[in-house]
Amino acid sequence: MNSRLMVLGSKLAFRSSPRMFTTSAARLSSKDEGFPDPLDLATGIEKKEMLLRLAGNDDPYNLKSIKRGVGTKETPNEIPSAFEARIVGCVCEEDSSHVKWMWLHSGEPKRCYCGHWFKLVYKEALV
Ligand SMILES: [Zn+2]
Repeated sequence: MNSRLMVLGSKLAFRSSPRMFTTSAARLSSKDEGFPDPLDLATGIEKKEMLLRLAGNDDPYNLKSIKRGVGTKETPNEIPSAFEARIVGCVCEEDSSHVKWMWLHSGEPKRCYCGHWFKLVYKEALV
């Protein structure tokens, strides 16, 4: 007698409880599967950098090291910069673990202690 009453009680409880959440299947069309292209999402300087990299410029900010040339006073090593001055590090000897740092100013070619000359050349900023 007691068990029958409990069953009746649980049926009543289920009927009266409202549904708490709903579900639906995610819909992806065959054309829009996957993530969007990052180039479509990028804006501003990030997009400009991505376009330069696609065009083949793998160093848009001139941050990679530059191999020294002859470096005489007549043909100095040209250092690109968008500013009036830039810090340049010269590894004077090939096996050296020491870098000689110096300020290089626009219009003032400078000679390192090892004898190589450096000259600042203007390069337009990325922005
Ligand atoms: Zn040097």
